[in-house]
Amino acid sequence: MKRLLIEGIAGEEKYLGEDMNRRPFASPHGLAQDDIRGEQDDPKLREECGVVAVHGHPDAARQVYLGIYALQHRGQESAGIAVADGKNLSNIKGMGLVSEIFTDDVLDKLKGDMAIGHTRYSTTGDSALLNAQPIRVESTKGLIAIAHNGNLVNLGNVRARLERDGAFFQTTSDSEIIVQLIAHSRANTLVDAIADSLSQVEGAFSIVMMTRDRVFAARDPRGFRPLSMGRIENPDGPDTIVFASESCAFDLLRAKFERDVEPGELVMVTRDGVTSRRFSNGVEQASCIFEHVYFARPDSKIFNRWVQESREQMGRQLARESHVEADLVVPVPDSGVTAAIGYAAESGIPFRFGLIRNHYVGRTFIEPEQRVRDFGVKLKLNPVRNLLEGKRIILIDDSIIRGTTSRKIVRMVRSAGAKEVHLRISCPPTISPCYYGVDTPRKQELIAANNSIAEIQKFIEADSLAYLSLDGLQKACDGGEGNTFCTACYTGSYPTQWVDVEEILPAAVR
Ligand code: SF4
Repeated sequence: MKRLLIEGIAGEEKYLGEDMNRRPFASPHGLAQDDIRGEQDDPKLREECGVVAVHGHPDAARQVYLGIYALQHRGQESAGIAVADGKNLSNIKGMGLVSEIFTDDVLDKLKGDMAIGHTRYSTTGDSALLNAQPIRVESTKGLIAIAHNGNLVNLGNVRARLERDGAFFQTTSDSEIIVQLIAHSRANTLVDAIADSLSQVEGAFSIVMMTRDRVFAARDPRGFRPLSMGRIENPDGPDTIVFASESCAFDLLRAKFERDVEPGELVMVTRDGVTSRRFSNGVEQASCIFEHVYFARPDSKIFNRWVQESREQMGRQLARESHVEADLVVPVPDSGVTAAIGYAAESGIPFRFGLIRNHYVGRTFIEPEQRVRDFGVKLKLNPVRNLLEGKRIILIDDSIIRGTTSRKIVRMVRSAGAKEVHLRISCPPTISPCYYGVDTPRKQELIAANNSIAEIQKFIEADSLAYLSLDGLQKACDGGEGNTFCTACYTGSYPTQWVDVEEILPAAVR
């Protein structure tokens, strides 16, 4: 049995089962987080979290289960579901994958017609069960459960102020800061207190919250992370309202996408219907463009654009910007696939799966022994020799972080007999860390922060290397008027204050 934290269910408020802190996993989407870049020396950038909320469904917990199952790619370390029925608010969370934690027996304990859920890769706060979400807190405004995707950047200041005012924190997660701000707000109503608290925090937050009888959803004023609203039409009663980090979660629920929660908007759902208010105005949108490059699933519509369309356009634009004579276009699976399809279509060069990914390799397989770790990429990717032999190959990938894994892939393709290996990256060079919920290495570890493209090409041993231009990326992701992007990891220009200046200094001056 998994180790679970159960809150608010009479007779069951306890930890159950064995400790399951680390276990193997495989992402259902694209490259698993520690998959082909899984060696500890060159990890893939990690997604942050996925959130889901459901209001007005007789089995809300199972609906949320399906939603966070669809969002498993956004975090695999822990998951939780809180449920409410107008009187009680209970919560179960555990370490591991959604399907491992929420068996039928566990879901049977969660009764109610509204629920919120969360799947997490920790960004702030250590990865303990206590910091798993939803976080359920008894406050002066009543019981509140919160699930948060993103990262606050003025954390220290706000936390210190709250502690001076007598706040007692139960977790080290930044999400609890929002709840403590609500509890300490002087506003008279809960909805005013939520709006008041959200206006005081800086950074990235797409959140869903729940009291015993209401569900809330909100996005930070810049709209860093996606959050969409959908609806299940009920012919015999009020519609079920759902929220999810990505619209792909709606498909499993048979919900219809309605709209994005807007940056700076707080939506409240009660038995009387949906109301909305703004807690912030006049801030330019800065949605995370890397959601389009890698994080989000291609079958999601985020920031007013289908991710699949964006990625295909990235590939097409990359082909226009960095054409090279070659025989085959080969994606680094799986996240390079859609861009590679675009590249092949634009260039007229045939697309082939020249690298095959083993979907069953997980983190623990490469952890125990250095001897095993040294297999690295070979365990996870295998070349299709008969396709690659004697060919000029264009490899398409979505990023180079430290460069060590890219070098192994280039070597692998070459050792399978490729005559030339040209690497094309479907975004600009990653030169700065992220402060908004994405786990990037420090600046001095990012190869593109400290080397020219020619130097990187030499290091990875490719015959040529090219990245998509920033302008090309922005055009590929264009969701129409008002949909502007954060591109700080490519430019070093951050849309908020409060970033760690030490971290963004060039490596040479450290
Ligand atoms: S810095 Fe990069 S990864 Fe972070 S929010 Fe901005 S675009 Fe996204």
